[in-house]
Amino acid sequence: MNHYLKKIDQLAKKIGDRRITIMEVCGGHTNIIMQYGIRDILPSNIRLVSGPGCPVCVTAQSDIDAMVVLAKAGIGVATYGDMLDVPGTRGSLNKAKEEGADIKMIFSAMEMLLPENKDRVFFGIGFETTTPMTAYLLSHGIMVYSVHKIMIPAMKVLVESSKIDGFIDPGHVSCITGSKMWEELKVPQVISGFGKDQIIRAIYKVLKLIYEGKNEVINDYEEVVKSEGNLKAQKLISQYLKSYEADWRGLGQVNSSGLEPKDENLNARVKYGTILKNIKSVQNSVCRCGEILKGECEPKDCPLFGKVCTPKNPVGACMVSSTEGGCGIAYKFLKK
Ligand code: SF4
Repeated sequence: MNHYLKKIDQLAKKIGDRRITIMEVCGGHTNIIMQYGIRDILPSNIRLVSGPGCPVCVTAQSDIDAMVVLAKAGIGVATYGDMLDVPGTRGSLNKAKEEGADIKMIFSAMEMLLPENKDRVFFGIGFETTTPMTAYLLSHGIMVYSVHKIMIPAMKVLVESSKIDGFIDPGHVSCITGSKMWEELKVPQVISGFGKDQIIRAIYKVLKLIYEGKNEVINDYEEVVKSEGNLKAQKLISQYLKSYEADWRGLGQVNSSGLEPKDENLNARVKYGTILKNIKSVQNSVCRCGEILKGECEPKDCPLFGKVCTPKNPVGACMVSSTEGGCGIAYKFLKK
C-alpha cells in the first residue's frame, strides 16, 4: 500500500464526520486518477472531484459556433484535432469540413507558419501552458481566434460559489505561471506532478493543509515548477495578448479570464466581427458538462453517458477528449 494512502486514512479518521471535497483542475490529473481508480480507494469522507481543467471542455458553445460560422463563410481555419469534434449548435467543425469548409487539423502550433497555413485563422485554445505558442504565432503575423483561458479567475468563481476545501493545482500551468500565483486564491492547494504516486502524495498534503486550517500553497513539483515560473514565456504572452471577459462552458462570462490578441488586425473575433454578429448558440439541454466542469456531478450522472453520448458520437464537449475530458476519460475506463 502506498505510504501516503495510509497517512490519508489516518488523517481522514481524525477529520471524522466532516466531508472534505478536493478538486483537481487538470485533465491530465483526472486521467491518472481515473486510470488508477484513486477516487475509489480514498476514505468515504474524502471526495475528489474534477474541475474546469480540460481546455476543449471549457470552450463555450458560442466560440465553437463562431468558428463553424467563419469556416462556412469561406475563411480558412486550423486547429487541434479534438476541437474539430466538439458539437456546436450548427454541428462540429468536422461536419463543416465534410460539407466543404476549408478546415485543417494541425498537431503543433508551429504548423501555422507553413506557407499553406499562414493565411488561415488559428483557433487558439488552452490554458497558460499553450498560450506562449499562440503568442509566438502572433509575433509572426498569424491571425488568431483565441479561446485561451486563465486559470485563477475561474478558480476564484469556484471558491466563491462551491464547497471546495482544497485544490490540486495543475503542474503544466504552474511551469509557466510559477507557484506563487496560486497564493492569490487563499485556499489550501498543492501543485502536483502527473505520476499516480505524486497525485496520492498531493492529496495527502492538501488534506493536511485543510485539517490544519492553512490556506497555503505547497509546490510538490519543484523539479519542474519554480516560484516565478517561466519569465520568458510570460513576457511573450504579455507582449502579444491581453485579458478579456471570456465565456466558459459551465461558468459563463468570467471577468479577465481569457486572453486575446492585442493587435486587432490579428484578432479574428474583431476582424470578422460583422460575420460573427448575432450568432445564436444553443446547448443540448440534457448534457451536464457545465455541472461536471464545476465538480457538481459526475459523468455517470448524465442520462446520455455511454448510451447516446459516446466518443464516436459526442453530444457534449466533455466526451470529446479521452485524455482530458471528464466524460471521455470516464468512458475509457468505465465502459470496457
Ligand atoms: S455524457 Fe455527454 S451529454 Fe452527458 S455530460 Fe458528458 S458530454 Fe454531456
